[in-house]
Amino acid sequence: MPAIIAWTDAQTKMLIKFFNEGHSASVTAKAISAVFQIEKTRNAVIGKWHRMGLIRELTPEQRLLRSSVQSSCVSKPTHHADRGPVIAKRVKILRQLHEEMKQAIQEPPPAPVAVKDGPLYLDLLDVPADGCRFIVSDSPYLYCARPQRPGSSYCQAHHERMYTKTRINLPTRGFRVAA
Ligand SMILES: [Zn+2]
Repeated sequence: MPAIIAWTDAQTKMLIKFFNEGHSASVTAKAISAVFQIEKTRNAVIGKWHRMGLIRELTPEQRLLRSSVQSSCVSKPTHHADRGPVIAKRVKILRQLHEEMKQAIQEPPPAPVAVKDGPLYLDLLDVPADGCRFIVSDSPYLYCARPQRPGSSYCQAHHERMYTKTRINLPTRGFRVAA
């Protein structure tokens, strides 16, 4: 059984020095054992430190590590329980987004900008010689009367409309009868 050897002044001095330098108890024990050719255990060092009132404050890193270890151990079930509100919040946001998307789809497209050069709705008598003859109303008969497209009885817009309509309505195939 190892004899309890009292700490000498020199050993105590070294003990305090190592404490102040921040060495761990086991390092201090090994160092003192080596220097004084004795066998001081880690627990002996800790015991002596305590008796001398040398209680080491945790470094901020150690405190953080300890608290994070504790919280990760202690609060794991709470952590899982707390996911409920988080998920609910996420679902709420997603629903809101979905509603906004649905509304955006249902909303009618923005009204077309009023054509500043729209039909003039004039009586045929009032249509100028170079006015568009496109009928825009048939009770009473009113005419577009906008300036004609060169070489046409219609304005540019109505000329295109007539031309396109005519072209679409033209039979393009299967209508030819052999003579
Ligand atoms: Zn016209």
